[in-house]
Amino acid sequence: MKIIKSDKVKILIGKDKGRTGEVIRVFPKKLKIVVKGINLFKKHVKPSQNQKGGIVEKERPMLVSKVALICPNCQKPTRVGYEVDKSGHKYRLCKKCHTMLIGKTTK
Ligand SMILES: [Zn+2]
Repeated sequence: MKIIKSDKVKILIGKDKGRTGEVIRVFPKKLKIVVKGINLFKKHVKPSQNQKGGIVEKERPMLVSKVALICPNCQKPTRVGYEVDKSGHKYRLCKKCHTMLIGKTTK
């Protein structure tokens, strides 16, 4: 996946379109991610000994194809490219400003 945890992304499709957030979980096999504060759904929680009951908002996983990475360098939503260095390491690359992006990818 081209998006990894702690990336900043912009939402392209859906009710949260145009908003940005930080990736807090990734599910590479499902091609899904969880973005902080995005794609919220309301969950009813029953009261228990430890907490009061009520409605809690939680993020739901969304398809990675619905977001664009925001490049930390040029601050623009961008597509991610790949580059392999001489020692065979694979790096992510911003296709707009060609800056190397930090972080390991999972394919
Ligand atoms: Zn860039």
